[in-house]
Amino acid sequence: MSEETVVTILGIAQDGGVPHPGCLCDTCKRFSEEGRQLSPTSLAVRDGDELHLIDVTRDLDRQTRMLDGSARMITDVWLTHGHLGHVDGLGLFGREVMASRGIRLHASESMFQLIHETPLWNALLNQRVFIKKQFDSGHEIQVSKNLSLVPIKVPHRDEWSDTHAFLLRGPNRALLHLPDHDHWADTLEQVGYDSIREWISAIKADIILMDGTFWSSDDLPRQNSIPHPPILESISRLGPREEDDPDIRFIHLNHSNRALGQIGVGEELMGWSIASEGDEIVL
Ligand SMILES: [Zn+2]
Ligand SMILES: [Zn+2]
Ligand SMILES: [Zn+2]
Repeated sequence: MSEETVVTILGIAQDGGVPHPGCLCDTCKRFSEEGRQLSPTSLAVRDGDELHLIDVTRDLDRQTRMLDGSARMITDVWLTHGHLGHVDGLGLFGREVMASRGIRLHASESMFQLIHETPLWNALLNQRVFIKKQFDSGHEIQVSKNLSLVPIKVPHRDEWSDTHAFLLRGPNRALLHLPDHDHWADTLEQVGYDSIREWISAIKADIILMDGTFWSSDDLPRQNSIPHPPILESISRLGPREEDDPDIRFIHLNHSNRALGQIGVGEELMGWSIASEGDEIVL
């Protein structure tokens, strides 16, 4: 077994995926006509004999076939929060599908409260499909000699549960996974830094998978009710990418995002990038 700690990006779409159910926008029509799809955001982390999954989507099968392994090898599942696309694959581990046993399920107290209150999920704990492993915000978990993880609480619509970003540290590099948060001003205030660059440098993150749900503040008419910092705002806060800057890739793209359009966004990204499904990052 390889000694490397390897992250694979299993999805780069927002919770609804692309094509988006019921949507007739040009992007969704084009993806549908070309038989292509993008799955909701999820990561696999290969660490020796262990295979960690961060968020679990309905596309679990399609996504784990991107690995040279299988969904049956998953030892641990980590949940960022309770919104649909991050949790709707949980049931696939149960009796009706894989009938898994003893997978460690890592989540916050508030997320476990939601799990206990949801009969279909609570049954998965009772049947020992999942073993409960509750984490505390801000407390580093030494997962193995080659992997540690810090759950970082971030402000995001909390109608079901709180939300965590995850800082993963391998032998050589650290990756910040931040798929969902509401506003940069609130997030930076909560983590205690004045700018994105200050935060990234304080936590020594080399790679950041950053919330890129929307391209601009007017992607959708009802965007105010589903806040995410638009990519254009993140880029204007960051400025252009310079040599030696960290590697920032946007994830969690909504089908409406111009970066998924036919023309693309090219130089407007100012050197930063959009993540791709299947990309591997060695930590
Ligand atoms: Zn989401
Ligand atoms: Zn669409
Ligand atoms: Zn969310």
